[in-house]
Amino acid sequence: MKTFKIGGVHPHDNKLAAGRRFEPVPLPKEAIIQLNQHIGAPAVPVVEPGEEVKVGQLIAKANGFVSANIHSSVSGKVTKIDEIIDAWGAHQPAIFIEVEGDVWMPDIDISGKFKPTCNLSADEIKRKIADAGIVGLGGACFPTHVKLNPPKEHVIDTLIVNGVECEPYLTPNHRLMIEKGEEIMVGVQILMRALGVDTALIGIECNKRDAIEELERIAARKEGIRIVPLKMKYPQGGEKQLIQALTGREVKSGQLPSSTGVVVQNVATVFAVYEAVQLNKPLIEMYMSVCGKEMEQNGNFRARIGCSVNDVVNMIGGMPEVTGKIIAGGPMMGRAMIHLNTPVTKRTTGITFISQKSAPRFASSPCIRCGRCIQACPMGLEPYLLYKKALQKDWDFMEAHHIMDCMECGCCTFTCPSRQPLLDFVRLGKATVAANIRKRKS
Ligand code: SF4
Ligand code: SF4
Repeated sequence: MKTFKIGGVHPHDNKLAAGRRFEPVPLPKEAIIQLNQHIGAPAVPVVEPGEEVKVGQLIAKANGFVSANIHSSVSGKVTKIDEIIDAWGAHQPAIFIEVEGDVWMPDIDISGKFKPTCNLSADEIKRKIADAGIVGLGGACFPTHVKLNPPKEHVIDTLIVNGVECEPYLTPNHRLMIEKGEEIMVGVQILMRALGVDTALIGIECNKRDAIEELERIAARKEGIRIVPLKMKYPQGGEKQLIQALTGREVKSGQLPSSTGVVVQNVATVFAVYEAVQLNKPLIEMYMSVCGKEMEQNGNFRARIGCSVNDVVNMIGGMPEVTGKIIAGGPMMGRAMIHLNTPVTKRTTGITFISQKSAPRFASSPCIRCGRCIQACPMGLEPYLLYKKALQKDWDFMEAHHIMDCMECGCCTFTCPSRQPLLDFVRLGKATVAANIRKRKS
């Protein structure tokens, strides 16, 4: 079975909610919609306090190249435009909406009918995707329309759809492939049309046998779409790793994935593309999982952007008392949260609870030079050395040794027998080098 060549680890997948269908989250009393739900500059509000809005109405416009439009996920009255303190303690601009009823914009198709045919041109498709505020829903939140316009010198021949979901605990992509397979396949055809390619490969790890079978059944009726089962190995869902596993092509250091003739889109993004292009529905809902070994239940949810994460968690009994760590996302690449009283955003793919027993950070012992971190690094870096250089603040060395290639996957920390905090310092080094590069460029 196919996989990527260098590094990788095998954490337990803990897909506790894999068998649970999506449940809709009830409408909140108030929706708090953040203005920076994408990489790039925060969107600029186009509504004022006191204004009435409908579901799907544009409330903030993209502000620059890698910014994205934001739409209201609820109907009601804008009460204020203010800051919130997010789950990481940072101030974030947001639009507050008091919810009244559930009135949708008239041009959004809410009939529930499946729409398999799209006759739009590539430019029309890209425009609809940009207007709908679609961003990469694998957690990166890079605007999808930008990815669909690669540099002219990159000739694209293949669309890759990322259905890997190798991050432990998370299950929304798995459930989407089972519950929304027909829509996803139309989304794939729409993206193939937008890119002008005849081939699409959908990579799925072999622990999702039911999703592989479902999409293979649908793909049998489609031209040029192939499902490729992949060996389980983390971080198989990394863009560069997935391209290598599926095509054998290698993204060179400092190059864009499109330099290999490939554009990668996450399976949840593909579903959002279907809704945007076929139903005129902007990105106003997230499909997410809530998981933890000590939860009363584990579950998958369809939540309006702007509703409270706490409300979603309370649907299955709330945060377990023995929780030691709350993570936005999964335990490998997710970020620890300081509270749950934060709105769902386009970044919210799941909430994971780790018990006090599993959460403590153990004291590290000296490096024994076993080399395991080097073997585990999927980018071919030397994490122990980068860690040492970060402690010495030798940023130039780190830049020369390709720190910017680090994908922050955490394989190095996961594998270290001395429990060295490798990822923390590699991240610090990467952020510092990135800031230095930006300074030099400006
Ligand atoms: S976090 Fe960075 S350095 Fe560590 S294994 Fe992943 S890519 Fe390599
Ligand atoms: S895995 Fe840990 S102990 Fe082994 S070389 Fe890397 S930092 Fe040192």
